[in-house]
Amino acid sequence: SAYMASEKGAAVAATPSDSPTIFDKIINKEIPATIVYEDDKVLAFRDIAPQAPTHILLIPKVKDGLTGLSKAEERHSVILGHLLYTAKLVAKQEGLEDGFRIVINDGPSACQSVYHIHVHLLGGRQMNWPPG
Ligand code: C5P
Repeated sequence: SAYMASEKGAAVAATPSDSPTIFDKIINKEIPATIVYEDDKVLAFRDIAPQAPTHILLIPKVKDGLTGLSKAEERHSVILGHLLYTAKLVAKQEGLEDGFRIVINDGPSACQSVYHIHVHLLGGRQMNWPPG
């Protein structure tokens, strides 16, 4: 339906769970993605439906129960810090000298649609405030 075809529709319909997601297929190179940065712990790739000239997702290669930020435990502190530090590196790599935005959607009210934590890095245009 048109509703399900929309990002918001998919997000509201998504059931929070710890099941494997489409991001596991990207990590395992089973489906293609435009990877812009990778190390042993994180993968950064271009969002398939970009909302800005630069729109990159940063994800941990091992989910370890981190379906979203609301599920974070103390042991996740290191990977959470590494995700943000990597976002800074990728912002520089993308030439986002004038600024960028970091977004983490958590849960249905925030339109989270994939239950494998991910950091959105957006830039290349003027952002608005407040976000929608
Ligand atoms: O924060 P949220 O869960 O809504 O973000 C999921 C993001 O994953 C969306 O921006 C969507 O475009 C992106 N996505 C993707 N490749 C897929 C599936 C989703 O880039 N195969």
